[in-house]
Amino acid sequence: MIEKRGIGVFPGIVTGKAAVFRHTVLDNVEHSLSNDSDRELSEFEAAHKSVLEEVRAIKPSSKEERDMLSVYESMLLDPDFLSLIRENIKDRKYTASWAVEAATEKYTAALAALGDTYFAERIADIRDAESRLLSAISGIATEIIITEPSIIIADYLLPSELIQMDRSNVLGLLLDTGGSTSHIAILAHSDEIPTVLGLGDISRIAEDGCTVVMDGREGLAIVDPDEKTLRSFRAKKGVALRAEKELKKEASLPAITTDGVQIHLMCNIEGLEGIEGAVAAGAEGVGLFRTEFLVLKDNEDREKDHIYEEAAREMGPYGPVTFRTYDLGGDKIAEGMDKGEENPILGWRAVRFCMERKDIFRSQLISILKASAVSPSVRIMFPMISGSEELLEVLAFLEEVKAECREKGIAFDENMKIGTMIETPSAAITADILADHVDFMSIGTNDLIQYTIAVDRGNEKIAHLYRPLHPAVLRLLKYVVDSAKKKGVTVSICGEMAGHAEYAPLLVGLGFDELSMSSHSILEVRKRIRTLNKESCAHFADNVLSLPDATSIEKALDEYNGKA
Ligand code: PEP
Ligand code: MG
Repeated sequence: MIEKRGIGVFPGIVTGKAAVFRHTVLDNVEHSLSNDSDRELSEFEAAHKSVLEEVRAIKPSSKEERDMLSVYESMLLDPDFLSLIRENIKDRKYTASWAVEAATEKYTAALAALGDTYFAERIADIRDAESRLLSAISGIATEIIITEPSIIIADYLLPSELIQMDRSNVLGLLLDTGGSTSHIAILAHSDEIPTVLGLGDISRIAEDGCTVVMDGREGLAIVDPDEKTLRSFRAKKGVALRAEKELKKEASLPAITTDGVQIHLMCNIEGLEGIEGAVAAGAEGVGLFRTEFLVLKDNEDREKDHIYEEAAREMGPYGPVTFRTYDLGGDKIAEGMDKGEENPILGWRAVRFCMERKDIFRSQLISILKASAVSPSVRIMFPMISGSEELLEVLAFLEEVKAECREKGIAFDENMKIGTMIETPSAAITADILADHVDFMSIGTNDLIQYTIAVDRGNEKIAHLYRPLHPAVLRLLKYVVDSAKKKGVTVSICGEMAGHAEYAPLLVGLGFDELSMSSHSILEVRKRIRTLNKESCAHFADNVLSLPDATSIEKALDEYNGKA
């Protein structure tokens, strides 16, 4: 039995069978010599046979897939390639994995040297075939296919990988890496998948198929638990389910403080599947629709109009439906984007990408405009705005697209509300200027914290430095909320900070009257708000703003919440 602690991201107590994946199989081939060439050779031959069978069993569903499979097969049957691997093992004493890696390198280098685009494009397919071989040799899956309910254990997961997985079979998620506001954490929230991130080496410790228990709230995972541990987790699960049932009873109550101030609680969604949970939790609209997650699924473009209009129709009656335009880039890479940026988080993402790929942007703006004709609740919001010039360029493009729609007779709401996200320190510091050009602002604290403290939100190694209560962050929040109110502009928070009940006294005290979060968090935040007194919170927030560091502010908040 091995116990690991990490960052609890979504609550839930689960016992299940582990499905282990490691992307790093490819990166971590050991370059050591083997003193048992016969064993290495038979490992290779067995892997080769199974991969060949696996590839032949795949039924192609398109011409592209058929081409790719034929590249796999011709590589796996190429006599020169195979004899090079066998020579590497027998004569050079390489391990089976190293022998495959070295032969592939030689093979791809020769293809690249031909200078022919067709062959250059085939290199990715060859690498794929290589990864299948390496995976078969190491016994660790590199492709994520789950066929039965499992707790997924991996070194890391890309948002697109989780989206493409059969999520009905995902009981829980345990990753070596990742922070509490990484996009994987956000997806885990919206799909309500119990998740613990930043577990260090769990993907190396756990064996595929072993039993695991996890507690997503406490950030705990136990590999190969004993009977006593399993019993205690069963009891804990019973208590947690009863508490959740109690919370759900309050879903129809408004989030009103004891002195009568209503705080509007909206939800963050990534697709239509989030709507049912939002309505059940009593969300007053959608504060953030992360539209880019639809692009990371395949067929979005065909269905975009339908999805946006459906969201407008279903959520419009409850409150605003806020479509954030594509925040692609960073860790959300779509087809045609540059994967090799040195600093993608500061790079070609969100409106920077959209303003260069105006074909993609125009098509999305038209879809949002069409949805605005379905419900007057539809709003549009732009991500990663870094200042007023950028905002004005984006707004001018929106006007251009509106003019095109008028010309083509496409109906839309001429009064559709327009907002900007505040996610960069430069936007926060110039919030008073930005407020002149928009109807509302929504603070993306996930990014704002990352950029203000210069701490990667997804990197578990520096998670201890990612402090939402850093005085620099709180000063920016205060500046934005005050600037917005002075200009009569609505202001909300849609970053993860909004969904933590313990921050509610501070956020209410700072003057936020709209918060947007995952549906699941609404229940707890509502419960907390109903116990708060706005005047007392405002006094508390004032005091906290004079404290010198995050530790003192965290301590003061714990005391306020009755935890200290
Ligand atoms: C944020 O940055 O807080 C935000 C809401 O956007 P995302 O998490 O999608 O980057
Ligand atoms: Mg963001």
